Amino acid sequence: MWKSGWRDRVWADLDRHWDVIVIGGGITGAGILREAARAGLRALLVEAADFASGTSSRSSKLVHGGLRYLKNGEIKLTIESVRERERLLKEGRGLITQLGFLLPNFAADRPPAWVFGLGLTLYDLLAMRFSHRHYDAEDMRELCPSLTDHNLLGGYRYFDAQTDDARLVLRVIGEAVRAGGAALNYARVESLLRLHNGQVQGVALRDGVTGRTAEIKASVVINATGAWADDLRAHLGRGRRLRRLRGSHLILPAKRIPLRRAISFLHPVDRRPIVIQPWEGVTLFGTTDVEHGPHLESDPSISAAEVDYLLTALRYAFPALALETSDVLATLAGVRGVLDTGQADPSKESREHVLWSENGLLTVTGGKLTTFRLMAHDALNAARAHLPSQIRFDPRERVLDASPAEETPFDLNPALSARLIGRYGVEARQLIAMAQPGELESIGDTPSVWAEVRWAARAEGVIHLDDLLLRRVRLGLLLPNGGLDYLDHIRAIAQPELGWDDEQWTQEVVSYSQLWKRAYSMPL
Ligand code: FAD
Repeated sequence: MWKSGWRDRVWADLDRHWDVIVIGGGITGAGILREAARAGLRALLVEAADFASGTSSRSSKLVHGGLRYLKNGEIKLTIESVRERERLLKEGRGLITQLGFLLPNFAADRPPAWVFGLGLTLYDLLAMRFSHRHYDAEDMRELCPSLTDHNLLGGYRYFDAQTDDARLVLRVIGEAVRAGGAALNYARVESLLRLHNGQVQGVALRDGVTGRTAEIKASVVINATGAWADDLRAHLGRGRRLRRLRGSHLILPAKRIPLRRAISFLHPVDRRPIVIQPWEGVTLFGTTDVEHGPHLESDPSISAAEVDYLLTALRYAFPALALETSDVLATLAGVRGVLDTGQADPSKESREHVLWSENGLLTVTGGKLTTFRLMAHDALNAARAHLPSQIRFDPRERVLDASPAEETPFDLNPALSARLIGRYGVEARQLIAMAQPGELESIGDTPSVWAEVRWAARAEGVIHLDDLLLRRVRLGLLLPNGGLDYLDHIRAIAQPELGWDDEQWTQEVVSYSQLWKRAYSMPL
């Protein structure tokens, strides 16, 4: 889709009046671009760094109603989320997959087990799908032998779903571009263009690759910069309204904690729910929920205190595994912006999305991966008065486009076929067609195949090596040493596709290694 020369073509076409400019290439911006483009609007998305490089590649990967939101009384958010989850499971098969959860109950738990049962009944009711069931302690031991049985009373099983968050963003942006939208990564909005009455009428943009600049005008400018949203609002002289909370994860090899389902349990120290789950051939565990502080870099990192907090929970829940810091394969930290209501406990702040219109700048932030389409509809409906045509959004329309391959899977192992259809949608056929011999083989113990590396390097807007290794394919999170041990093979495929000379390749490897050590490995 983003074949050689694509950025120059988009830049050459910037100088026209747009209906909508979306600032921010995470899931929120991606969803707005897709819905705007499908409604026939001239829509442009600009992202300061790489697509999905913000919070949308650093989530817990759950497509869920959010049991904890239910616990906080956020019923509307839960209803909307479980319905979107059901839709995504149906329309995004292979990218959004069902995930079984175990919810163990221990004697010391507050609230007691029956409250969880009641919550799960309500959760199922909201989804109109009865799937949870109770297990006694003996069953739980059989289902997860490595889980502590100290004071174990039993537990519940229920279902939610998980995804590859960065790939979800890329699929949504891809669909938006195919529907006529335009999207640029490494294009930072440096300031807002305003009329003499102060109304926002466009953006001043700088290309992070060439340094060129452009001033672009639009009927509507949407601030979808997530945890950075206050920084753009500050250009209008508006005070901060968001609180930045960091959530971090540990990634461990699946063989150290073999799991067939996710387990959600309460942290032994502060009783916050935390989740350990099988994901992409590894085990993902998190999250923390801590104040991030005023400076938000593009690649936040886990702190030593968060590592301790997470390891304490792992050692409590899986004492027999004797987990050590040396078991950790990689770490992942993300920051969300939530409406600051001054709650002492950060986890009590609402995760519901907010929408503010200030001097013609529409800010949409908060929310979840799961509800990206509803957030997009809300944002575009709020901007309706400034949009040229009578646009309408039908919530019954598909959340992800249909691919003909859904009906006739590829002649591959069924899991791989579903994976490629889910991740690449209509482009899966081309990806398979250009695979060289042996490139449909897995990379190490990951479910990714080498053809994905080739495809990403050729056609997915990769500018830097971390775009390729952290977001197009997630090898930097899934392989030991950030995937650097596989570099020769990666280079043989990617360097010619990217058209980089040896010097550029070497520079990119140095930058990637430094970035990985600083933000994705264990803190020193
Ligand atoms: P982002 O993904 O952060 O995108 C904003 C983008 O704006 C960034 O890429 C940034 O580079 C760009 N930007 C900033 N300034 C500029 C500028 N001046 N010019 C151009 N671009 C700019 N939700 C779920 O549904 N399920 C989960 O399991 C889940 N887990 C989570 C776990 C954690 C730890 C966190 C923090 C959140 C989690 N969420 C989850 C919530 C979800 O990840 C976020 O709501 C969502 O990713 C936010 O997307 P976004 O597009 O609004 O922001």
